[in-house]
Amino acid sequence: MQSSLIGKIQKANMYAREPERVTFSEFTTKFRGEHDSYQVSFRDDKWSCDCHFFPTSGICSHVMALQKLIGPMLPTEARYWPVSESVPVSSGT
Ligand SMILES: [Zn+2]
Repeated sequence: MQSSLIGKIQKANMYAREPERVTFSEFTTKFRGEHDSYQVSFRDDKWSCDCHFFPTSGICSHVMALQKLIGPMLPTEARYWPVSESVPVSSGT
């Protein structure tokens, strides 16, 4: 094997232990839930999931699981519960 390629492999092994080097800008996943599979995606700084819970809440267990799985590789604003207009904020009303 070329010695230059060996160097690349060593560097790749080092990089692979540092997930914070990578930031996903957009992606689509197939998420196998307990009863069904769902398409979970992140695009234009927004999460989406085609499960029945997501449209009413703007969040669901599938998105939350992905946030835990690949948290260090998500843009900062995508790592947490999305505070968006679709999420009811309890303000004492
Ligand atoms: Zn979902």
